[in-house]
Amino acid sequence: MTVTGDGTALRRARDRAADVLCDPSLAHVVDLIAHPSGDGGIVVANADGAAVLRADGTELLHGRNPVADQDPLAFTPLTAELADPSPANADNAYPYAFERLTSLFAAAHAPDVAVVHTGKHHWPDQGGHLGEHGSLNVVQSRAPLILSGAGVTERGVLAASARVVDVAPTLSWLAGAPLSSLADMDGTALVDFLVPESRHVVGLLWDGCNSNSLYALALAGELPNIARLLMNGCALRGGSIAEFPSVTLVNHTSALTGVGPGRHGIVNNAYFDRGSAVQVLTNNAATWHRWSEWLAPGVRTAFERIDGPSASVNEPVDTGTAYSTFRLVREAGKSDGAKSMMDDFLPDPKADPLATQEFVLSNKDYAWASSVDGIGVQQVLDLWPSRSEAPRLMWWNTLLTDTGHHEGGPHSPIAHASMRDADRRLGVFLDHLERIGALEQTTILLTSDHGSEGADRSCTGDWDEPLRDAGLEFRDEAYGFIYLGHS
Ligand SMILES: [Zn+2]
Repeated sequence: MTVTGDGTALRRARDRAADVLCDPSLAHVVDLIAHPSGDGGIVVANADGAAVLRADGTELLHGRNPVADQDPLAFTPLTAELADPSPANADNAYPYAFERLTSLFAAAHAPDVAVVHTGKHHWPDQGGHLGEHGSLNVVQSRAPLILSGAGVTERGVLAASARVVDVAPTLSWLAGAPLSSLADMDGTALVDFLVPESRHVVGLLWDGCNSNSLYALALAGELPNIARLLMNGCALRGGSIAEFPSVTLVNHTSALTGVGPGRHGIVNNAYFDRGSAVQVLTNNAATWHRWSEWLAPGVRTAFERIDGPSASVNEPVDTGTAYSTFRLVREAGKSDGAKSMMDDFLPDPKADPLATQEFVLSNKDYAWASSVDGIGVQQVLDLWPSRSEAPRLMWWNTLLTDTGHHEGGPHSPIAHASMRDADRRLGVFLDHLERIGALEQTTILLTSDHGSEGADRSCTGDWDEPLRDAGLEFRDEAYGFIYLGHS
């Protein structure tokens, strides 16, 4: 079947796809599907039922609402998560489901149908790992959120949560932007936990960290520098909930612009541009430096919202900064961006005393990410030569944590090692701030772009084959974004 501009044909194809995807034979891999209802709502459906989510409430179509529980604090702390790994849909939680899905489907490049993987789905043939994220469920969506240092008014681990879109307004406000100038963002500044009184603001993103696990390791004394942050601040037990899909570039962009994918336009790490009929690959070492090319017009970063020098270290999102790693990459003019350039400059991770050598030697992705994070430390030290020359706002992205969580799952030795290494690198920076007398005048926000959940090796399966068998023509981008009528 070919879907043309005729909306009826598209609807028919979508209904056919929904029938296939919601068949009980796929329920072990399809947590739910979502698509616009056509009248301002979002249809969510799976083998057990369907509902339309609307701004003024939920309309149950049949069976059970697949996103009935939206508690952002579900499965916290770590003991609660470990007691029920890979919860089934009926027992799971989907915070801000309406808001997040509405944002996605407002984007020009949103799919016709989004298929949400179950937490336990293991899909190594299509690039899946033992630890995964991307889904709508709370564990894959929950990033940690720690606030520390000057101006932080609360202490301890609080029964509270935030959203990734709240990061940009919080950083901008701390760095001097009036709240009224941030009202156009989707997120809001975390005014309940902070007052803006610091001279310097630091945002740390540890990519792909499981929030419960990070807090538990810190409280157990295994992450002494995270513990140091907690001594002078607070953590939100419900963390920071990612936009959907809970993948890297969608959420780095949301964290630093304060808007969801419907407004910033970067809907996945790979997506399809129907207009030009090309696949757009965003989250790749060869393309990170091109981030601003995919950003929707008029969307501004936190760096553009403030006065004073700002810096973005190892972070694709960099418009408006005085210093940025990826500007250096662009200026070097290499066609594959950071891919070959980084290889030219990367330090040897085997000579890095901050890196866990067991995994540097046994895992090439761990070694590469350790090198990249190694030059991250060098850059942040260079950016803070003295208190008076330090940036007003600095953002520092750490890659290794995502690698560790993917490779072994969130509660594996390699994931824990990645957090210990990141903690040692953080310690170098904190010691330096103390040495130059800047620590007490700095507010630090530490977060991730999404969470991480362990897959089940025995839970395999694929929806593309039954969709093809049903005679549907489609593209499946990033394994879950279905564009009908294209191949
Ligand atoms: Zn990520």
